[in-house]
Amino acid sequence: MPELLSKEIIAVRDAAETFVNDVLRPLEAELEGDVVPDVLRDKVRSSSQEAGFFYKTQPIEFGGRPAGVLELTMLRELWAQANSPLTNYIFGPGPGILHAADGELKTNYLDPVMRGEKRGAFGFTEPDTAKRPSWARIDGDILIINGQKSYVTGGATADFVSALINVENADGSKAGTAMVVIDRDADGVTIEREFASMEGGGHVSMMFNNVRVPISHVIGKIGEGMPRALDNIGNVRLMISAQATGICMWVSDFLERHLIAPHRTGIPLGEREGIRIRYADIRIETYVARSALYRTARIAESSDNDVNETIATKVFCTEIAGRVVDMAVQLVGGQALVKGHPLESAYRKVRSLRLMEGANDLLRINLVKGRLELHKGRL
Ligand SMILES: Cc1cc2nc3c(=O)[nH]c(=O)nc-3n(C[C@H](O)[C@H](O)[C@H](O)COP(=O)(O)OP(=O)(O)OC[C@H]3O[C@@H](n4cnc5c(N)ncnc54)[C@H](O)[C@@H]3O)c2cc1C
Repeated sequence: MPELLSKEIIAVRDAAETFVNDVLRPLEAELEGDVVPDVLRDKVRSSSQEAGFFYKTQPIEFGGRPAGVLELTMLRELWAQANSPLTNYIFGPGPGILHAADGELKTNYLDPVMRGEKRGAFGFTEPDTAKRPSWARIDGDILIINGQKSYVTGGATADFVSALINVENADGSKAGTAMVVIDRDADGVTIEREFASMEGGGHVSMMFNNVRVPISHVIGKIGEGMPRALDNIGNVRLMISAQATGICMWVSDFLERHLIAPHRTGIPLGEREGIRIRYADIRIETYVARSALYRTARIAESSDNDVNETIATKVFCTEIAGRVVDMAVQLVGGQALVKGHPLESAYRKVRSLRLMEGANDLLRINLVKGRLELHKGRL
């Protein structure tokens, strides 16, 4: 639960609220439209470095002061509750899937990423039309990669993509899956299509045509690809859950102000029982979603297996967020659908959360597999 946090985490939360009110809100006044100009981005970054939030997602060896899962969850929820595009620039770059990289991968990719000089993207999803999932043949100390990835966020500007690849030995036998770092400008890599999704993200689909990559670009070992990809996705699922409940909190505050404001009928909407029942649902669902989020963050922080709990939380929180925003639109009325209204953008934002990092129904299937076949998962 969000209560009973340690004194230290409460102090961080207080400092984060002050940061939002004293630093982000005044900077927001300089925003024109949805696109955050570089100058504002830099101001958020330098203020965040000064306040110490920037370093909370970075390992100690890169000068970071990493926060635990519970603290990060609390902060992510609070940034989402602030409902500001500037919150995207508070945390410094984290290692993500490259966290265990060493040797050449560390020098040429992980280190520059952590210095902010390079950016990576994540290639997992394959198009429905793929004849076979992306694959590579081992040729000495080279991988020859063919295939495609259909939904690579930030792929247009990334320097490289970490892609899940099925690797075969030289004789065609299976060697296992691997996460492989592929330079975006390597020979044989083509961007097929650039597209944007409704919540504002930019993505590409890319093709690999006999791309030659040194075998040293495998993160970890061949055979570890799928577990590494899923481990990375697991962390992101908790992040998405915090984002979802933060949006619910913002909606709840927004509606509270709306319901007590004057209404053209002469009676504020909040005085009508039918509206109160709907608003009660929003508050009840937000309360339960937050309870799940903080319970799961505590399990994750304890280093116990939290795969099924994180799945349950991601599915529940993202679906609640969808319902909460939808009901808020209904209670505010037609104005909520006008482009530029904060509920209009919240509506677009929450829809993507039910597909990102695993479609919710597939996660349900995985959860039951975890129970029936592996006896995992708490209630
Ligand atoms: C904003 C956004 C950003 C994204 N960023 C990335 C990224 O950076 N990298 C990346 O690799 N991907 C990314 N994705 C893709 C995302 O991971 C996929 O959209 C998601 O995993 C679903 O896969 P799919 O779109 O191929 O749908 P499918 O897997 O084709 O599923 C379509 C529908 O069928 C259902 N379904 C599928 N199989 C079954 C089954 N066996 N039983 C029952 N139902 C089933 C699913 O639940 C879903 O409702 C992003 C998506 C979004 C929306």
